[in-house]
Amino acid sequence: MAKTTLDFASLGEDFFKPVETQPLKNSFIIHKNQTLYNKIGLDLDDATLLKVAAGEQTFQDTQPVASIYAGHQFGHFVAQLGDGRSCLIGQTNGYELSLKGAGKTPYSRGGDGRAVLRSSIREYLCSAAMQGLGIATTEALTLVSSETEVYRENIEPGAIVMRTAPSHIRFGHFELFASRGQKTEVKRLADFVIERHYPECQGDNKYVDFFAEVVKRTAKMIAGWQAQGFEHGVMNTDNMSILGLTIDYGPFGFLEIYDPHFICNHSDHEGRYAFDQQPGIGLWNVSRLADALHSLIDDKQVKAVLATYQQHLVRYYSSLMRQKFGLFEKDDNDNQLIGNFLSILYQHKKDYTNSLRNLSSLESLSNDKHYEAWLTIYQSRIEQDKNMKRIALMNAVNPKFILRNYLAEVAIRSAQDDKTYKEIDTLFNLLSNPFDNHLGFESYTNEAPAWAQNLEISCSS
Ligand code: AMP
Ligand code: MG
Repeated sequence: MAKTTLDFASLGEDFFKPVETQPLKNSFIIHKNQTLYNKIGLDLDDATLLKVAAGEQTFQDTQPVASIYAGHQFGHFVAQLGDGRSCLIGQTNGYELSLKGAGKTPYSRGGDGRAVLRSSIREYLCSAAMQGLGIATTEALTLVSSETEVYRENIEPGAIVMRTAPSHIRFGHFELFASRGQKTEVKRLADFVIERHYPECQGDNKYVDFFAEVVKRTAKMIAGWQAQGFEHGVMNTDNMSILGLTIDYGPFGFLEIYDPHFICNHSDHEGRYAFDQQPGIGLWNVSRLADALHSLIDDKQVKAVLATYQQHLVRYYSSLMRQKFGLFEKDDNDNQLIGNFLSILYQHKKDYTNSLRNLSSLESLSNDKHYEAWLTIYQSRIEQDKNMKRIALMNAVNPKFILRNYLAEVAIRSAQDDKTYKEIDTLFNLLSNPFDNHLGFESYTNEAPAWAQNLEISCSS
């Protein structure tokens, strides 16, 4: 039995079960995020890091645990979920370390507790991409593959991503105890989170202030998603972080051809989590968190806080969009100007990211007749601002590189078929600094080739 206990485990036995990680066969590290490794102050030799990252050895003798939570999945309450294939294995410098794919837990509900290489590569690269874009996210430290066979539609290599975050607590953790009428546990959990992660909320109205801050962070995160064209795909309340971090990368997608009704998760038949539904779903989700905090905050206060969600979202979103368009001083017609540009993209099936990136150097758009009328108005509008740094400021928020599905797919196929990982390395570098030019890598900004236009991303991961 390991000796060190996690902070999370101090919550008590109602909150988790101890687990043993189940190692993979002939595992090896494909990639390690060195910047993150340095940031969280890890200092392990390569052999030890592999053993920890592959679930073969505990981290500093820490007892791994799987936590229990509930959640609303596609609008329906599921009374008990939990870490079915992930577990907390340690903590360092204020970061929890968590393995995803290290085998069954008491909450696996018939699942195998594994993650396949394909979905692990996607999670690993997307967390780096989100971090690079400046959107709050869990971060991935290592990507491990193996010769373990995992059965999905096909047999695929088993993999493990080590995730890190100051906390992996979800809205669903609160929902579980609230739904069971365990008020003491709801309070204990709230106190735990406030003390460690929301110290600024420790005054007289601590639960209201805490909830208000979660609402604000959630709105900010989703504003970032909308501005940068990210669709999460499965915004169930068990996939909503109490710290407002993007968490649980599954069938996510970036907008390529601009389509606000885009649905990246092909199991989402009704489009509940379509791109343009995300802000509304965010509000629905924080409302479910409010329900779970019912015993701590009175209804009037809940209402007042919920009313701030949209204000935060609009404020963060418009600020990002104004920057993306290089509109620095406010003008009453700016929203219309932005809206008209998006209509052109939609109508003429233009690439969202590339069109915005090209907006800073006007030349590339002026060869395209679809923009002609709009550009005349835009040019006179930006002359008003007289901002000499306009191009640099715009390029600092309009990424050149996003994780296009076909780019991930190329990296996945060469990893699976040829056991070569160079593409993962390349994508990791581009996506970690997506606003830089990276001369020589222009082809990574190309739109999807014909073979990749209908790639389907499923939940089976
Ligand atoms: P997700 O939609 O990926 O957030 O997963 C929903 C729930 O299913 C979570 O509680 C996961 O832990 C669990 N789960 C997903 N895949 C597996 C698996 N292969 N084995 C066990 N549990 C799983
Ligand atoms: Mg999940």
